[in-house]
Amino acid sequence: MVFGQWPLASLGSDLTKQPKQMCVIGGGPIGLELAQAFACLGTKVTVLLRDKDAAGGVLPKEDPDAATAIYNSLKADGVEFAFGLKFEKVEEDRTVHCTRGGDAVIFPCDVLLVATGRKPNVAGMGLEEAGVEFDARTGVTVDDYLRTSNPDIYAVGDCCTPFQFTYVARVDSTPSRRWRHDCAHAGMSRARWRE
Ligand SMILES: Cc1cc2nc3c(=O)[nH]c(=O)nc-3n(C[C@H](O)[C@H](O)[C@H](O)COP(=O)(O)OP(=O)(O)OC[C@H]3O[C@@H](n4cnc5c(N)ncnc54)[C@H](O)[C@@H]3O)c2cc1C
Repeated sequence: MVFGQWPLASLGSDLTKQPKQMCVIGGGPIGLELAQAFACLGTKVTVLLRDKDAAGGVLPKEDPDAATAIYNSLKADGVEFAFGLKFEKVEEDRTVHCTRGGDAVIFPCDVLLVATGRKPNVAGMGLEEAGVEFDARTGVTVDDYLRTSNPDIYAVGDCCTPFQFTYVARVDSTPSRRWRHDCAHAGMSRARWRE
């Protein structure tokens, strides 16, 4: 990913040498796992969050006790957190410009990792023509049986779930289309076949 003339690391895979300083925008599992990994390798890592505290910004979809435990573990590994930020701009001198309560706050870094979530890639596939309902942000609309609004089309994985993980996609995709179809007709829901 390129921001102006500044190459940004999207997955860490673009990096050829260890950064001294790294900023991570986003407090979800991907941002935090890479924050921790780089911190453990010796990079000074700061996680930048718009939320006012860890309760709102660190793993907000997870159980609060687990999120607190992970937050403390990350801090013990040397990861720093900055809360309550409003993001203004990223400059080519490798600084992230924010405000907090009206005051300017600037974070220098060698590498910026943006881990603010992913959107399903549903545009331009002809879903409208196929009668498949979708939302640009939440993806394809499915029922409990992963059926879309076109009864002959099913969806699975990141394109139709709020839980964008491999294991969710895998579990949901394990039953064959035929089996899923039979389950749908027999009234067996997705929750049931996951068991
Ligand atoms: C950095 C990172 C770390 C992650 N770490 C974990 C982890 O530790 N554990 C975990 O469980 N999950 C993790 N995930 C999430 C995991 O990768 C996804 O949940 C999983 O890959 C979803 O599988 P999928 O088949 O739905 O989508 P994808 O794996 O994204 O596959 C989608 C496929 O569809 C193709 N495609 C997209 N659009 C079109 C189109 N218009 N036309 C045709 N083909 C198209 C793509 O090229 C791709 O081949 C991570 C994700 C990222 C980005």
